[in-house]
Amino acid sequence: MSHRWACLLGQPVAHSLSPALHNAGFAAAGLDAHYEAREVSPTDLPSAVALLRAPDCLGANVTAPHKQAMFSLVDELSDEARALGAVNTVINQGGRLIGANTDAAGLARWMRLADIDPAGQLCVVLGAGGAARSVVWALFDLRASGVTVLNRTSSHAQRLVEELQPHLQRNEPQFDLYWDELTEAALPAALPCQIMVNATSLGHHGAAPEVHPSWYSPLSVAIELAYNPPETGFMVAARAAGARAENGLGMLLHQAALAFERWTGQAPPMGAYEAALTEWLAA
Ligand code: NAP
Repeated sequence: MSHRWACLLGQPVAHSLSPALHNAGFAAAGLDAHYEAREVSPTDLPSAVALLRAPDCLGANVTAPHKQAMFSLVDELSDEARALGAVNTVINQGGRLIGANTDAAGLARWMRLADIDPAGQLCVVLGAGGAARSVVWALFDLRASGVTVLNRTSSHAQRLVEELQPHLQRNEPQFDLYWDELTEAALPAALPCQIMVNATSLGHHGAAPEVHPSWYSPLSVAIELAYNPPETGFMVAARAAGARAENGLGMLLHQAALAFERWTGQAPPMGAYEAALTEWLAA
């Protein structure tokens, strides 16, 4: 096969990290391929997606505002994409387009590598947007015993629970999904939790949800999904309360690496992805 390509479809895309990551990945794997960001309006999305069926196209990443609109433009949806209500990766399989979502699997893979194990634990997720859905899915996948979703707008938390619950069924161990208001996190906890994830967009804006220190013990891990800035108020407060704190770079890295894996069928060159990420952060 001659030169191959993949792209990012979104609006805006100018500041995306994806071209740096995937071009480094393609080069390190010795693939004759390139990746580019394509600024596409909602009106132009169908014609941009039609181009992905070309034999030399590996697939695409999809970002705002197109993650839902992709549902009606691909030929097949993965279970995760359907349940999470968002496509972030398209795979070209012989001209058929598969809509997938690598956020939850990327987070789960990073958590395993980072030795963060929610098995048998009741976890807390702050926020109820697209990222929070992926977190709940990943925690289910890693065999958490349950998740409580706390959100500013309680109807959004309730909707997340109602929509995801049918997809998160198993016999053993049982999985429970609860919801409540974000203000609950500011109150003393009945018991510390082992894993608390901030999936609100506050960290991205230099702010933090208020979390009472009693939610944490030295066994707790606080995961901030934002990565820019790399250190947030949520992380600082968690550390001050004795917990381990991590940002969203691991999830970011592994959701991208999983897209590479699904496009090429090869193991992603993680060293190249990590180096590209480090370089991008330093710049
Ligand atoms: P989203 O769908 O827009 O959801 C935003 C969430 O933040 C909602 O739950 C919203 O609550 C809450 N929120 C917004 N402003 C708030 C405020 N002032 N006070 C309290 N809660 C507030 O966004 P998303 O796509 O889920 O992304 C959430 C975060 O995850 C962002 O920081 C994003 O950068 C990060 N993220 C990271 C990765 C990664 O790879 N590391 C991947 C995806 C996302 P309401 O429902 O009340 O509006």
